[in-house]
Amino acid sequence: MYLAEEAWPDLESYFASESIALVPLGSTEQHGPHLPEGTDHLIAEAFAREAADRTGYLCTPTIKIGVSTHHRQFPGTASADPSAFRDYVESITRSLTEHGIDRVIYVNAHGGNVRHLREVGRKLRNEGVVFAVEWMWDESIPEQIDQAFEHNGPHGGPKETALIQHLYPELVHEDRLEDARDGGLVEVSEAIGRVHGARTFYDSIDNSENGVFGDQTDASAEIGAELFDAASDELVALAEWLAEQDVSDLMPRERV
Ligand SMILES: [Zn+2]
Repeated sequence: MYLAEEAWPDLESYFASESIALVPLGSTEQHGPHLPEGTDHLIAEAFAREAADRTGYLCTPTIKIGVSTHHRQFPGTASADPSAFRDYVESITRSLTEHGIDRVIYVNAHGGNVRHLREVGRKLRNEGVVFAVEWMWDESIPEQIDQAFEHNGPHGGPKETALIQHLYPELVHEDRLEDARDGGLVEVSEAIGRVHGARTFYDSIDNSENGVFGDQTDASAEIGAELFDAASDELVALAEWLAEQDVSDLMPRERV
């Protein structure tokens, strides 16, 4: 069920029997020379809509701009101030609770949002308002992603390329995949950007001239379809698990 397409009497019926909502979130930021700036929010929305279709649970409209200050040097990157982003997500989540929602999955596809969503989730849980968890598609199937690509990348790499090739093939510049690889950083390791243990970089351009990582030429729509199906299964399972819980069991424990 997609909230934006429903009329209120039908939503009233939903809230009478269910108390879970999926909230897709992403970013609007550079994803290299080959992928659209909407890559993360397009991916997040696809997963949330798929899981909502398969379970009947409610999916809200997508929060399309996230915290992307680390991509600011590239044309088009739009970013929210971290505190404004947290306040916005928090207030939207609170408004859902007015209708009886007491559990939320932030279906997220942007690494820069993670710690902010965790913080919002912690705050709302500590207040006993709602149990909200953050879910990232690639973290739900890490081994499958590792096996799929020789040179993975945390941003604009083959995993995101494959998903957009599967979901929105018309938005991928296939003729720029080699440029994406050659102008970026293929080998990503923990040592990159570290000096005597300190992370000395702040922006993606500090480590990658064109803003992306990994070998994009390893990607294909077929692999993207497999990853999408596998991670969708995980999200559906998470939603079904969450819907079954007694929400009081999800709230903070009493102090000892
Ligand atoms: Zn991305």
